[in-house]
Amino acid sequence: MAAPMLKVEDLHAWYDHSHVLQGVSLEARAGEIVSLIGRNGAGKTTTLRTVMGLVKKCRGEVAFDGQAGLLARPAHDRYRLGLGYVPEDRRIVPGLTVRENLRLGLVSSPLKKEEASIIDRIAETFPRLKERLDQIAETMSGGEQQMLAIARATASNPRMVMLDEPSEGIMPVLVDEMFELFARLRDAGTTILLVEQNVERALSISDRAYIMDHGVIVHEAPAAVLLADREIQDRYCSV
Ligand code: ATP
Repeated sequence: MAAPMLKVEDLHAWYDHSHVLQGVSLEARAGEIVSLIGRNGAGKTTTLRTVMGLVKKCRGEVAFDGQAGLLARPAHDRYRLGLGYVPEDRRIVPGLTVRENLRLGLVSSPLKKEEASIIDRIAETFPRLKERLDQIAETMSGGEQQMLAIARATASNPRMVMLDEPSEGIMPVLVDEMFELFARLRDAGTTILLVEQNVERALSISDRAYIMDHGVIVHEAPAAVLLADREIQDRYCSV
């Protein structure tokens, strides 16, 4: 069995006095796509944000790529260590071009000097961006902007990327492209932790999945097993 790329143990997090994560434990092994699924408000986004160092009040143990103590590090260290993140709101810079947004993904990377060849590689991986490298990002569709956010997060070749609801509000043809892309990223060696409401699609490309409810993991199984289990999907994943 592959070693864990990300290992989260007994993670707790609070927003003010609200104890949102109540002991989350999960892991993503090198080269896996792992889905984290569950109803609205279950705590999925908070789990990703806490791992990324964006929730101040938290405790627990998070190890990345064999190094313990991730929570004690400043948030920006994650990118240097090779942990990428695409938040729900994408955070691309609307007034910059696609190319300029991609450059931002390399700002603190040792790969910065290879910027031109990296942007060429991204253009091949993301054909929709190839034709739009000099287009202002905000003039693209929501789905294309989401592709840009994913391209930017993966520009520096992270070991792992965490994606929060990437298919939300995106037209079906782009959702298909996006899921094919995730499978290709995984095949190229990138570990993926995927938060999705589109449960069937997520499970169909995942290796394993965790189901979250009320701030804890209530179930873990191979994705194929969960995909065949309508009862558990209905119990924990219907909105
Ligand atoms: P969704 O699919 O709706 O994003 P989720 O599973 O990602 O759901 P979270 O967004 O992590 O859930 O929310 C978990 C709980 O924390 C919810 O009860 C939510 O209302 C609360 N919460 C989320 N963000 C904040 C915040 N910034 N301040 C206070 N409470 C918050």
